[in-house]
Amino acid sequence: MSRVPMLIGNWKMNKTLQEARDFAQRLGQQSMHLKPGCEYAICAPYTSLHLLRVMLPAQVQLGAQNVYHEVSGAYTGEISAPMLVDFGTKFVLAGHSERRAIFGESNEMIARKVSTIMKAGMTPILCVGETIAEREAGQTEHVVKEQVLSGLANLESGEVETLVIAYEPVWAIGTGKTASVDDAGQVIGWIRQILVDQFSSSVANHVRILYGGSVKADNIASFVGHPEIDGGLVGGASLEADSFVGMAKAI
Ligand code: PGA
Repeated sequence: MSRVPMLIGNWKMNKTLQEARDFAQRLGQQSMHLKPGCEYAICAPYTSLHLLRVMLPAQVQLGAQNVYHEVSGAYTGEISAPMLVDFGTKFVLAGHSERRAIFGESNEMIARKVSTIMKAGMTPILCVGETIAEREAGQTEHVVKEQVLSGLANLESGEVETLVIAYEPVWAIGTGKTASVDDAGQVIGWIRQILVDQFSSSVANHVRILYGGSVKADNIASFVGHPEIDGGLVGGASLEADSFVGMAKAI
């Protein structure tokens, strides 16, 4: 089946309001290059969400990088799913390797976030991927399987169908090293097989699975050209509008 390709930017902890405004203006000037058959989004810091909702071209949806699983209450410093929905947020990242490694998010916490995002009517982008030590120890398949199955543990099949998974090998994030297209395609093929075994082939065929890790304008086409890979989750190369457009043209 054909799945709609995606280009998702992850700005991480970058951009003041002025910088976000400059990006949105520049992207707006080139919005004719954003194709109707693709889905685009920027996962921005919370502080830029309102501005981007107003200023991004209509083809580009809004994403957040994190959420707390409770709806309201005494959770100083946290942001809830209803707050993100209020901003018109469509996508929320869950389980990014920086959240796992720096902020100690466990598979269980990530599963709670995934179901919270889904129940609020937004689309989770569940990020999974092995470290270099795990890859070298031959554990990639095992690690990714555990991250996928535990991340989806609180969802019904009908919910899983609408979700997005991003395979991001930790050693390829922000390093300039990418996985080879064949390696990325192989792991993404395993992820799809996990979905077949756990849910059904129809569910597995609907789920979009992206590759992330040093994706940029001059390599994205080779990833998206692989039949298993449905798009890119892009950090560094999503920070400049021209580079975002360069990737949009290439997929
Ligand atoms: P990168 O980051 O494109 O800068 O490697 C990807 C990500 O962390 O989502």
